[in-house]
Amino acid sequence: MILGKTLESWYATHPLIRDLVACRETSWFNPGTAPAADALQDVGLSADDVADASARLARFAPYIARVFPETAGSGGMIESDIRPLRALQQALSKQYGVELNGAMWLKTDSHLPISGSIKARGGIYEVLKHAEDVALAGGLLRAGDDYAGLDSEKARTFFSGRKIAVGSTGNLGLSIGIMGSTLGFQVIVHMSADARQWKKDKLRSHGVTVVEHTSDYSVAVAEGRRQADADPTCHFIDDENSTNLFLGYAVAAERLKAQLASAGVTVDDEHPLFVYLPCGVGGGPGGVAFGLKLAFGDAVHCVFAEPTHSPCMLLGVYTGLHDEVSVQDFGIDNVTAADGLAVGRASGFVGKAMQRLLDGYYTVSDESLYRLLAVMEQSEGVCLEPSALAGVPGIMRVLGEQQGYRARAGLSAQSLAQATHLVWATGGSMVPPDEMKAYLAKGRALLAT
Ligand SMILES: *Cc1c(COP(=O)(O)O)cnc(C)c1O
Repeated sequence: MILGKTLESWYATHPLIRDLVACRETSWFNPGTAPAADALQDVGLSADDVADASARLARFAPYIARVFPETAGSGGMIESDIRPLRALQQALSKQYGVELNGAMWLKTDSHLPISGSIKARGGIYEVLKHAEDVALAGGLLRAGDDYAGLDSEKARTFFSGRKIAVGSTGNLGLSIGIMGSTLGFQVIVHMSADARQWKKDKLRSHGVTVVEHTSDYSVAVAEGRRQADADPTCHFIDDENSTNLFLGYAVAAERLKAQLASAGVTVDDEHPLFVYLPCGVGGGPGGVAFGLKLAFGDAVHCVFAEPTHSPCMLLGVYTGLHDEVSVQDFGIDNVTAADGLAVGRASGFVGKAMQRLLDGYYTVSDESLYRLLAVMEQSEGVCLEPSALAGVPGIMRVLGEQQGYRARAGLSAQSLAQATHLVWATGGSMVPPDEMKAYLAKGRALLAT
């Protein structure tokens, strides 16, 4: 029995669970979406909250530019570029023998400064928010101060009496560890068993305490929460429920809007924008999608991508059980090469808040991720970590779907011909060269078979 029902009766009411249990690639386009103007009310956060997060990042920018010189060129703003994927689009079209209308683009969060993944948005934002809160309360900062002053012994001593803890599969720990330790905090990162050795080594080199768990992400988070709850000097960053993380991610959208405009890309009902976001627990892609819906309304269509072995968000939204169900409940092992996506139980907050705003969900096998990793490198010269490729098949899933989604969403052939398909590349630039070589070798070998 699984949550009160036999597997056969689950298959009868929710046929796609067959594909999930078999770890077969599958797609689901949610019939329960609603217009943004209505569904944005579900979230409990507003455009003002995103603007507040954006203003906070601007206050910290002079400090960021000082302590991370690689951000000086952008004035301390942590942002990534977009680039067209013409060669990749051609390669995919040839490989799969299908015509791919519209234009593919890449959002290179893989190359975000400081921590080389999408976690440089939410993770760093929440550390800065917490630092500002305690600094204002403790008299270290006053409203209107130049935050560059936080790059001082006085500030580091102030923060050194405080702790920040987090549970992570790797990349969130990296962002919070680097940012927290730079400010002066004591940082404790609870790593799941699948976390890469180089990420743990890098954190320890920053003076971060890394606690290694033999269990998966959910247990690492629960353990971190338990230890932090017992210590009043410790702030726990809750990847499963934090609205601060979510808002840090959401700021990406207004910046993307400006980037698309300056690249001459139109987004409106006749020129829809599709955005494909790799999903782990859901906070990153959920926050970005929330920002996108605020920025573009119903002209943007957000689709989440998960590994075939960790389809927690698809399972949670499809069954309506959200965080009450895990992939392990259905015997799915949650073992994947896609760092950051090995999550068996989705965020309850994101799944519920965003379910009427997200158009669809699909799964990708590790084998496909490795192949696409090699094709991306070959066609575009861009090196990404496996999870960051999860958004690439999205265009094919949307153009090939047979669930009535395109008609329901009012997507005409004419509008699809002038659509933009943005692949959100979530990590890769900090992967050590030897590991990247091994990823590429694996992908090329699979392509040759
Ligand atoms: C964390 C992460 C994601 C997904 O973010 P969630 O908030 O866990 O859904 C995607 N890609 C990479 C590389 C990540 O590290």
